Amino acid sequence: MISPLLRGRTLSFLRWPETVDDHPAWRYEEDGGLLIRDGRIAAAGTYAEVEKKADEGAKKIDHRPHLLLPGFIDAHAHFPQMQVIASHGAELLDWLNTYTFPEETKFQNAQHGRRIARLFLDEVVRHGTTTVAAYCSVHRESAEAFFAESHDRNMLNIAGKVMMDRNAPEGVLDTAQSAYDDSKALIADWHGKGRQHYAITPRFAITSSHEQLEMAGALCREYPDLHMQTHLSENHAEIAFTLQLHPKARDYTDVYEHYGLLGRKSLFGHCIHLSEREADSLSDSGSVVVFCPTSNLFLGSGLFDYQRYRTRDKALRIAAATDVGGGTNYSMLRTMDEGYKVIALNGEKLNPFQSFWQLTRGNAEALSVVERIGTLDQGSDADIIVLDARATPAMRLRMETADTLAEELFMLQTLGDDRAVREVYVAGRAAKSDMAV
Ligand SMILES: [Zn+2]
Repeated sequence: MISPLLRGRTLSFLRWPETVDDHPAWRYEEDGGLLIRDGRIAAAGTYAEVEKKADEGAKKIDHRPHLLLPGFIDAHAHFPQMQVIASHGAELLDWLNTYTFPEETKFQNAQHGRRIARLFLDEVVRHGTTTVAAYCSVHRESAEAFFAESHDRNMLNIAGKVMMDRNAPEGVLDTAQSAYDDSKALIADWHGKGRQHYAITPRFAITSSHEQLEMAGALCREYPDLHMQTHLSENHAEIAFTLQLHPKARDYTDVYEHYGLLGRKSLFGHCIHLSEREADSLSDSGSVVVFCPTSNLFLGSGLFDYQRYRTRDKALRIAAATDVGGGTNYSMLRTMDEGYKVIALNGEKLNPFQSFWQLTRGNAEALSVVERIGTLDQGSDADIIVLDARATPAMRLRMETADTLAEELFMLQTLGDDRAVREVYVAGRAAKSDMAV
């Protein structure tokens, strides 16, 4: 197998950048090199250094003057919602009942699931996302389809069959027992196969019975290294309904706590309206709160208080995500552009290095996969993207007056989308240019 040797401006983070001048927080090479062997980064540094380590036959690919970054990571998306995205006029619960649940019934049909899984992964890769934590539908076949497609592409993805056994139409319901059995079968078939990770996925407290939440907790105990993903505190009507279904719970978070669903591999989508007690509890357990700005704005759910969560005494671990199809774009650049605005409405500013940290290393840390992805460190999987800050006429013009890397990154975030993503390497394989358009 030929080992590619990439050349370009490389940027990778070591930790959270406090300011735009906090240079030790990242590694930037104006003329950088990345040597790829067997799907991993075998060497990283200046091009001159890395070139010396390359074999005679290494395939040199010159991406100058573009930026090479670790692939973006999307910590929460629903692959069965590709034909729900851009549905008008509803808040969360109506949106689920009117659009999402009817759409997800179609995934009873395995062929439909396979088609959408293929198109979904095409779409995320086109946008520079190399890892996604995905919700499938309730149907086991939908998770089979997702993992088969992901495995074929050798992508590192996290996914799970949704567990839901009440408060939804018949066509998207399982039972407590069948959810447990199907999840176990999927874990046996897919978890740890190549780069696949299984996530135990109760949709949220409203659609899972007490018995089913108990089963979800049992799965978490049986497989403590697995992720668990669900939704929490997205909208006021959802919170009220949840507390009505769980009258003994102290608050919404307590429902999940009661069933043993909090922990370092637990991903909670949204978390907008948390009380201090809930935030403390999520922090104490090392749970991850997932910021989904385009979705929160689109559904009118509220403003996630990123800076407060990050800096409170008991800080929260934060990931960022599209939440497609409640979210309105597959692009993590578009996501952080909207994220910047949400944070601005809370009276704070996120600097561009912090944003790009979040999209790469930050999300990898939040998903507990940073030993494999999220950086350009030697030994990491070679999930790498090539960003072109002059991808459109408006961007080219704006770049005439951008003098610093910080300005370039902020412009990419504010004006960029899939057009700014020139190439995407998945485990060292050029995946975007390979794609039939
Ligand atoms: Zn969601």
